[in-house]
Amino acid sequence: MATAIEKVLRASTYAKPPTSITARLTEYERSERLRRASGIFLPLFGAALVSLFIPVWHLVGVPGFLIVAFVLARGRFGQATAVDSVEGTCPSCEELQCFAPPSSSELPVTLRCPGCSAFVKLEPQ
Ligand SMILES: [Zn+2]
Repeated sequence: MATAIEKVLRASTYAKPPTSITARLTEYERSERLRRASGIFLPLFGAALVSLFIPVWHLVGVPGFLIVAFVLARGRFGQATAVDSVEGTCPSCEELQCFAPPSSSELPVTLRCPGCSAFVKLEPQ
């Protein structure tokens, strides 16, 4: 089961003192990570099975779908946390900002400030 938590992170940028930023994270337990991994693996594995019966295409389709299925499923299974939203004072422009993390981001993560476009690295304190 996924658990939503709030965590205070250290935000740092080049040549400025670091600040604290609050982030909402989703923590995935082993069963949830397995469910997420199978959610991407099974459709791609099915596409590989369907490709098996298509002449010529099976030479590319079967190994291609299988490789992509294993790589994406491994990535999802290995993701223990996901950063959902980030709010706090930017260490560069020192204004309150709402950062937009990519959907599959994990800690530590580097984001761009929407106000001053500086790179801000977020890591646990
Ligand atoms: Zn900024």
